[in-house]
Amino acid sequence: MEYVSPEGLRLDGRRPMEMRQIRAEIGAVSKADGSAIFEMGNTKVIAAVYGPREVRCEYSMANFSTGDRMRKPKGGDRRSTEISLVIRQTMEACILTHLMPRSQIDIYVQVLQADGGTRSACINAATLALADAGIPMRDLVTSCSAGYLNSTPLLDLNYVEDSAGGPDVTVGILPKLDKVTLLQMDSKLPIDILENVMQLATEGCKAIANYIREVLLENTKQLEYRRGV
Ligand code: UDP
Repeated sequence: MEYVSPEGLRLDGRRPMEMRQIRAEIGAVSKADGSAIFEMGNTKVIAAVYGPREVRCEYSMANFSTGDRMRKPKGGDRRSTEISLVIRQTMEACILTHLMPRSQIDIYVQVLQADGGTRSACINAATLALADAGIPMRDLVTSCSAGYLNSTPLLDLNYVEDSAGGPDVTVGILPKLDKVTLLQMDSKLPIDILENVMQLATEGCKAIANYIREVLLENTKQLEYRRGV
């Protein structure tokens, strides 16, 4: 199957190095200490944070998030357990836990619509929700994936591209500290291409970090405006 046309366009019309449209909204769950919705194209997730209390994370996919693609396995869902752990460890890298001894932070992330890249979208939503909850962080953590199909590195794979069975490299970074905090890969990739694909995913993470900073700044301005500061 052709995932990149001779004109250099992907199935959803994007250029190889183009990310999907991103959108974020802070404060979607009024009962939580912090919350956010994060969308990457048709992937839509929600994060709610309670705390500070030890960092825990629970990832789940809404039954309606994938249509008939979603099968809930009996006796536990290994994928959700793995993704919960990955997100928890990634978020722990940015939270200044030593400032909150004997305390616990609960991060609930739920996929409302799944179209590839849900773990990245959840990390981005969790970062915003943590910031919204006023949890002290050493940096933002942002995530994006990149793949390699038809000999072309592709940024931010959607479900159809992800299902092609090619490599899917998910990267998480601490943008200000210039550190990688998450690196996961499915399938296989020629070694000499790995750096290119990782670089592309990292650029995606940086673009998301810039967007998240803008959203947080705008949110702070609105709060100050409402308080009459
Ligand atoms: N997916 C699905 N049903 C499932 C699990 C996954 O439809 O039970 C789809 C969903 O679109 C997801 C994609 O497969 O985004 C890729 O899943 P993967 O495990 O690679 O994680 P993700 O890319 O979402 O972080």
